[in-house]
Amino acid sequence: MKDQIKIKEFSRESITPLVKLELNDLMKLEILDGEPPLKEPPQSWTEKYDFTLDNHAAVGIPIPKNDQEKEELVKKFLKGLEKELTREGNWTFLQQVMLGLDYCAKCGACEEACPIYVASGRKNIYSPLFRSEILRRIYRKHFTSSGRLLGKFASGDIEETWQLITRLIELSYRCNICRRCAQACPIGIDNGLIAHEIRKIASQEMGIAPKELHEKGTVLQLKVGSSTGLNPQGFKRIVEMMEEDIQAKTGQRIKIPVDEKGADILLIHNAGEYISWIENPEAYAIIFERAGLSWTLSSEPVGYDSVNYGVWYDDIQFARIALKHVEIAHKLGVKKIVVGECGHATKALVVTAERMLTKDNYIPRESVLPLLSEIVKKLDLDPERNRFPVTLHDPCNTVRLSGIVEPQREVLRRVAPLFREMEPHGVCNYCCGGGSGFAIMHSYNFDQWKYKVASRMKVKQILEAFRNELSPSIYKYVCAPCSNCKGEIRDFIKHYGLWDKFRINYGGLAELVVNAMPDVKGFINMDEFH
Ligand code: SF4
Ligand code: SF4
Repeated sequence: MKDQIKIKEFSRESITPLVKLELNDLMKLEILDGEPPLKEPPQSWTEKYDFTLDNHAAVGIPIPKNDQEKEELVKKFLKGLEKELTREGNWTFLQQVMLGLDYCAKCGACEEACPIYVASGRKNIYSPLFRSEILRRIYRKHFTSSGRLLGKFASGDIEETWQLITRLIELSYRCNICRRCAQACPIGIDNGLIAHEIRKIASQEMGIAPKELHEKGTVLQLKVGSSTGLNPQGFKRIVEMMEEDIQAKTGQRIKIPVDEKGADILLIHNAGEYISWIENPEAYAIIFERAGLSWTLSSEPVGYDSVNYGVWYDDIQFARIALKHVEIAHKLGVKKIVVGECGHATKALVVTAERMLTKDNYIPRESVLPLLSEIVKKLDLDPERNRFPVTLHDPCNTVRLSGIVEPQREVLRRVAPLFREMEPHGVCNYCCGGGSGFAIMHSYNFDQWKYKVASRMKVKQILEAFRNELSPSIYKYVCAPCSNCKGEIRDFIKHYGLWDKFRINYGGLAELVVNAMPDVKGFINMDEFH
């Protein structure tokens, strides 16, 4: 097999990439007749940043200028790893990380479960096992007594060059943290978590993180209120526009509650919805109004954006944002926080934050999907209004991580008569390719890698789900109840021309519910792709 790299080669100091992608090597997309070619990165990037992993860059780590900088890079990484192995330094995941570092049967079950490894044409650097094994060897060599005494005989050979570190950090951004591999592992090792821990060391100890997650992500969110750059004034204006828009679409004027003290529910959407898919928060306003719920949005900075990119790369940034969400809910005196259609926000606030939201910080938190499915049972709906082929993308963090599998299906069975599953689906789903922050990461030539490798399996699944209705005369809908997944799906639909060739469109779940309301005049415009 081509491009099978030995771990020893990973340390090699060189200016040539270890692996180069070629279309012919990648998993075949049989239904698609041709796809955009791969392009080489410009020299102006490769002479400045380390592209030697796979000729692509997500982070773009500057090439050190001298030996001192090279040594610093290695030293900082080792120091960061040492911290990761202590309870104080790793209050979030120490136990699971140690399981992954101390035990691995090398059975390979995780490899075939990984969509990135399979879609790449089974290049071993993308295997869950490969990345973890590098960290494991560094750990054994430096932080176990057998490694210190017996050297390579106990740890496996590993040489800590600066390029081992830069490539390993880049490689931690070739994993969607979808945790499909963890589900396949007979002893429960979470290789996605190991990728996360490498990112964490890079960010917290070395100041290295993709700018979309850090400067333009968590830092911007804490500074202005949202990682989209939306400030509270802008948010309030958008809410007014939503009220007008809803009136135009439904003939009804709704007062969308904002900062209503004492409401039962604080609903927090991913702010990407307000910028790119306004119909989703509008749909929830209509549905909640008809259900007679006591609810509110918040206009406080961070309170109108459920996004928490810290969950993908930095525990400190993660904690700051999660605590802010809770503080806002407590100030409003709501009974619970409901997170809108966003898998990663659900992971951050509903699941991971559980470790720190105890005692005074406690507040019930849940995904909106079970609530939506309960409401839908009581609404008067006409599913015939959604008579077009619909398939469902399962967001990894909603389904595999949080165990929310049936509610979205119950809704679709009620409102979409031509609904069909992708294969595989539910907890065995494949990531859209935008997981772990990739959906918003567009630096250097990372988009190319994402579309060609990370999203490839999802493209295949979608085409297969619509295999019998591919004619562009039939409009089709990929339902993705997650803001990040929608962003990635929109981008790869454009890359592969799926709208132009096949009229494959996409959108959220609540939109289909409102579209099925007999008194609403066409809520989803299937002619429009945005
Ligand atoms: S978490 Fe997902 S993308 Fe990452 S190694 Fe595991 S299966 Fe592959
Ligand atoms: S499935 Fe688990 S035990 Fe087997 S190789 Fe992967 S991480 Fe190791």
